[in-house]
Amino acid sequence: MRFRTAEGASHEGRDGSGHERFRVSIPFDEHGFFGRQCPSCMQIFRMHGEDYHHLPDDLQLTCPYCGHVSEHSEFMTEQQRDRVMQVARDAALQMVSDAFKGLSRRSTGSSRRGGVTVTFRSKPFYPRPLPGINEESLIRERRCETCGVRYAVFGEHRFCPVSGLLAPGDIAADALASEEAKLSALSAIPADQIPILREQGVFERINVDVLGRVVGAVEACASSVFRNHALNAEAALRGKGNVFQRLDDLAGLFRDAFGVELATVDGVRWPELVRLWAARHVHTHAGGLVDDRYLRAVPASRLAAGQRVVVTDADAHLAIQQARLLCDAITLVGGTQASVPSA
Ligand SMILES: [Zn+2]
Ligand SMILES: [Zn+2]
Repeated sequence: MRFRTAEGASHEGRDGSGHERFRVSIPFDEHGFFGRQCPSCMQIFRMHGEDYHHLPDDLQLTCPYCGHVSEHSEFMTEQQRDRVMQVARDAALQMVSDAFKGLSRRSTGSSRRGGVTVTFRSKPFYPRPLPGINEESLIRERRCETCGVRYAVFGEHRFCPVSGLLAPGDIAADALASEEAKLSALSAIPADQIPILREQGVFERINVDVLGRVVGAVEACASSVFRNHALNAEAALRGKGNVFQRLDDLAGLFRDAFGVELATVDGVRWPELVRLWAARHVHTHAGGLVDDRYLRAVPASRLAAGQRVVVTDADAHLAIQQARLLCDAITLVGGTQASVPSA
């Protein structure tokens, strides 16, 4: 039978197993992107339509947020599903209408037996226009360093939709950019609120938090690069605990495995990095109070044991800037250096 379809949909005929096949277009936004929704965590991301078109038909997609892997057709967004469902409903209505046409012809004369008369007049079917797509719009176009696919996300992510887990340099660059965005968002706080928040220590808490995340970003980056590229990496790490959190030990590992001297990388201010890392340590483990370990790491400190280490705005910014240089040098080892966006 012939189906009428709304604009944006077409009837492709019947397939081998007797199913009617329809093609439903998914319109791209003004940047050429369209939405995908993870069937597991339900979060939405967007992919570039042209890049997508060139991918294989049996493509498996990875959710950028949770890493769930599935057949690409599983990643339909709710709005895309609504469009598809309307095409299916339109087709079903026409099939029912077609069936009734036959029924009303066949049943003439017999329907009166039960005391009920069924009359059916078939009307031509005019499909309504398909619902448009109005999803969260693109904030930033990203291009995967590994496979080149363009995509966009709306939250912290770890995976490329096509090639999976991101390169360590990309993950670090993202984490550092997010810390920087956090610090600059503070400048949008109304001026009359600032003294109140400062009095409550909110800004310093944020600085400490930024510092902790920066240390974490460097640690994760160094750990994956080392594990991916050092010979006998696991043997070298055995019994060493959180070695990537300890700056001097981390530098020692990279010196031994790759012959690079992280402390003398251009622009790296190693004593400052050591001080910041030590500040992170006392804030995580000693309530921010100076201990012997801090004094050993920062012998030039004017603080005495028991005093409190204050993490300033300048410290938070310096940590991000220095971590970028460090991560660049670390990822260079694996030949996977990412272009780290700078402020
Ligand atoms: Zn997911
Ligand atoms: Zn990729």
